[in-house]
Amino acid sequence: MPLHAILVLLVLLVLPVRSAHCQAHSTPTTVDSWARASALIDSAVAAHGGIDAVRAVRKLQVRIEGQDYHRNQSRRVAAPYDSTPRIVHYFSDLARERMVVEQTTGFPGGFRYTNRFVSDSARHYAVNVRAQTYSNQQYPPASQQYGNLFQVPQGYLMVAAESAPALRRYIGRTRLSSGAVVDAVVVFFPNTTVTLGFDPTSHRLRSVMGVGMDAFLGDAALDTEFLDYRMIDGVLLPARAQLWRAGEMTREMRYISAAAGQAIPDSLLAPPVGSAVLPPAPAPDPLRVLGPGVWAIRGGGSWQVLVEFADHLMVLDASPNAASTVIRRAAELAPGKPIRYVVPTHHHDDHFGGVRHYTAVGATTVTTAGNVDYFKRIMAAPQSTLLPGQSPPQPSNRLEVLTGKRRVFTDGRRTVEIHEIASPHATEMLVAWLPAEGVLFQGDLIEAPNAIAQRGANAETTTHLAEFIRRQGWQVKEYGGVHGFLTSPQEFEKLVQLPMLPIR
Ligand SMILES: [Zn+2]
Repeated sequence: MPLHAILVLLVLLVLPVRSAHCQAHSTPTTVDSWARASALIDSAVAAHGGIDAVRAVRKLQVRIEGQDYHRNQSRRVAAPYDSTPRIVHYFSDLARERMVVEQTTGFPGGFRYTNRFVSDSARHYAVNVRAQTYSNQQYPPASQQYGNLFQVPQGYLMVAAESAPALRRYIGRTRLSSGAVVDAVVVFFPNTTVTLGFDPTSHRLRSVMGVGMDAFLGDAALDTEFLDYRMIDGVLLPARAQLWRAGEMTREMRYISAAAGQAIPDSLLAPPVGSAVLPPAPAPDPLRVLGPGVWAIRGGGSWQVLVEFADHLMVLDASPNAASTVIRRAAELAPGKPIRYVVPTHHHDDHFGGVRHYTAVGATTVTTAGNVDYFKRIMAAPQSTLLPGQSPPQPSNRLEVLTGKRRVFTDGRRTVEIHEIASPHATEMLVAWLPAEGVLFQGDLIEAPNAIAQRGANAETTTHLAEFIRRQGWQVKEYGGVHGFLTSPQEFEKLVQLPMLPIR
């Protein structure tokens, strides 16, 4: 046999063995994953100008402006979504443990908020700029306020570079909601884990990725993307940041201006002159008795109302986070009576998403005509793995659609009136009126987390409700709401007299 034939034979014999051998060796070990994560973080830091440039986030001021697009929180149930402005002003001085972040946000129907979170060493405040009030708080030290530091991409990079290096892991190439592909690294640091996505070409921080619960998809991607980096006032910042939820863009922000190395103005480090201190809010009781057989039940941060009829129960509003508490409480408060009806106030997912739980225990959902498809989609949605005790997909046959503007439920002794009002907050909106008890129950029509009328809390939506109540001639004794109860009917009168403040 010629020598070259022997070599060919040897190669043929060896090749398959070598291939299997290579495959075993190409599967990364934990050390490989750690080393790749470290290399990606190092090259990102370099691509952002080196560690000193990244650490500029420690003494930096940045203004970011954009819009929130209200998926499942708009006036209409389907896209296109309503948007409201979001403005963020970031001030840090970590050497002195100082951090001030002011955010302006809103919801459809004229609701606007401007809140400032202040840390000055051991002193911390939450300032409601519109109400001209503040409360004393206990926040972590400024250098550990990751949510605030992460307003700026350098915040992620600094934390990644300084976090426990042994715990970093490369988890592979990952596709974002926008279609872009990144190299994904998980970084662990005290109390928090983030998944960072690095651009394979520029090596810069492209994204931050998470998984959240979604009414339609069960588990859904939550991606933040940083796009079009450029020098803004001497600081490398993305021109834009986008937040994507379940494949749809729900926020787009623009980085407007920056100032590195400047001290935070003293005026921002103390409560604003003339503002009033709010006492700490007492923890709300888990149950309020609104009358015999009428209970407000608190679950997952929301109030829901349970009404007892002769042979069944009705639940007003359908918060997904409250449903299991309400179902458990209903069995204690009115043993043996089934929940026959659930009436979500409106389609927003924090008021409607619980319909699956109630359907699973036999309830009929009462809603408006525009929400029928939405109801069916929620019923058929995959189950999220993120919330224990969720109901599986339900057959969507127990639905009652309001045909007029009003539906009265009564057994002769107990009466609940459901009224449809076309609210500036949601075009199809239901309120519940219990005439015997004088209880009005609504969701999102009154801004009442502090239970008292305060400057900046009046809105187009609230005055619209006031006008509706006036036309009905109702003498309301109790203003109940999913997000809070007013302390007295007089508070409502005060609230609607307050001026509606423009956004600043
Ligand atoms: Zn709402």
